[in-house]
Amino acid sequence: MLSNSQMVTALFGLIALWTLEGAYLTLSRDAPRKRRLYPRILVSNVVLLTAFLSVVLELSIWGVLVVGALVALVTHLTYRSVWFCEACGYTARAGFSPPAYCSDCGARRPRGDARESRGPPAASGPGRLAC
Ligand SMILES: [Zn+2]
Repeated sequence: MLSNSQMVTALFGLIALWTLEGAYLTLSRDAPRKRRLYPRILVSNVVLLTAFLSVVLELSIWGVLVVGALVALVTHLTYRSVWFCEACGYTARAGFSPPAYCSDCGARRPRGDARESRGPPAASGPGRLAC
């Protein structure tokens, strides 16, 4: 059980972390690195936010599972809505699907699924998650 001051400290720590992540994704023009880091950032955010909500709300194991699933679902939708421009490295995002054109340089997003623009095609097989 955390005290109120510990919970506030944890909340501000999470807000500071998310601000830094957002600033990096917005300001950096290194698209390959952002493609590599973005899934890891999102997974760590799911774990941290679920853990924080579980502690603050004093959830049972079922509550943790439900909150974790909801946070993971929202994070997945966020993941699918982001596109890192091949031409300029801009982080483009719009609604529930990535925009067709980069709003910074005007380059067109490659055809097909949004995930195809995130890097080289991933190998299919049992280790690949189907999204
Ligand atoms: Zn661009």
